[in-house]
Amino acid sequence: MKGTIVMNHIKYLTADKNNRSEKLFFGKTSGILNWNDTTYPHFYTIYKQLLSNFWIPDEISMSKDIQQWGALEKDEQEAYKRIIGLLSILDSVQTRFTLDTALHSSDTSVHAIMSVISQQEVVHNQSYSYVLSSIVPLEEQNRIFDMAKDDPMVMKRNQLIMDIYQNFKDSPSPETLAQALVASIILEGINFYSGFAFFYNLARNQKMVGTSTMIQYIHRDEMQHAYFISQLLRSLIEENPSIDLDGQFTLWVEETMREAVRLETEWCEHVLEGINGIDLFELKDYIKYLANKRVRMLGMDDLYPGFDEDVMPWIRAYSDESMNATKSDFFEQKSRSYAKVTDSNGFDDL
Ligand code: ZN
Ligand code: ZN
Repeated sequence: MKGTIVMNHIKYLTADKNNRSEKLFFGKTSGILNWNDTTYPHFYTIYKQLLSNFWIPDEISMSKDIQQWGALEKDEQEAYKRIIGLLSILDSVQTRFTLDTALHSSDTSVHAIMSVISQQEVVHNQSYSYVLSSIVPLEEQNRIFDMAKDDPMVMKRNQLIMDIYQNFKDSPSPETLAQALVASIILEGINFYSGFAFFYNLARNQKMVGTSTMIQYIHRDEMQHAYFISQLLRSLIEENPSIDLDGQFTLWVEETMREAVRLETEWCEHVLEGINGIDLFELKDYIKYLANKRVRMLGMDDLYPGFDEDVMPWIRAYSDESMNATKSDFFEQKSRSYAKVTDSNGFDDL
């Protein structure tokens, strides 16, 4: 599936073009955003939803987590550090990718939404520094941010996404963008989740609940990012039917998703082996269940027939559906745990 390289000649302002875009990408626009005159009006709902999710890490109290940290099992502490290190890679890369996608869009509403998503990834990165600065000294914090770079298993897992992103960056076209958006759905909608599972497992044992609250906010954001990106991808293909004219793209998505599931499973065995309360067999099924959900978001059939139930009921409390359904409960929890922290958490020392 070779795409022609289409350089983007978007000007900052093109007065003789319409505000409403001709195309999401590689089209023409005046460059002016008017939410009342956009090609995809339902994007405005997504934009408002993203804004309503606003949160900042500094407002989550880490005081209990600080007390509990020393009492965690050694392998729990180790997994905690490794997973925070890994999440920090995902969010750092995603900040740049979403910014790139925003800059490439010829639709000002997409530009706006991707900019908001990019900003949220920045906040996620801040939260990793924030929690680490609460529980370990500066030298250890820095080591944790380097940890994942030195871990061949983690780098192997990330490489699939990085190669697809890089290909889009080097040769931007509707085809390479479509592939990059699929990689983005894998990153947002699968890669984050095994990490989330680790923290939710701690929380269901009343451990590190501050960290888990933060993870819930990130989870909610990522869920909506994955949803928007899937919407974007479907519209991109509708606008450029040649992307999947012969079904090659659909085949590529299936293969790439399967590879992502394989890598994710391998990574889970590597990082979560021996963690009390996490059944790796169940987690593997959970990953397949997630992959099914993601391809369904793209209007495709299940990749793994039969894996249509969340096999880890304790994650269900935090699942995509329940978060939407019980939003008020979620916010109640937010207000309960929303005690302002003082500078004593050490973040200022960073
Ligand atoms: Zn993020
Ligand atoms: Zn995201």
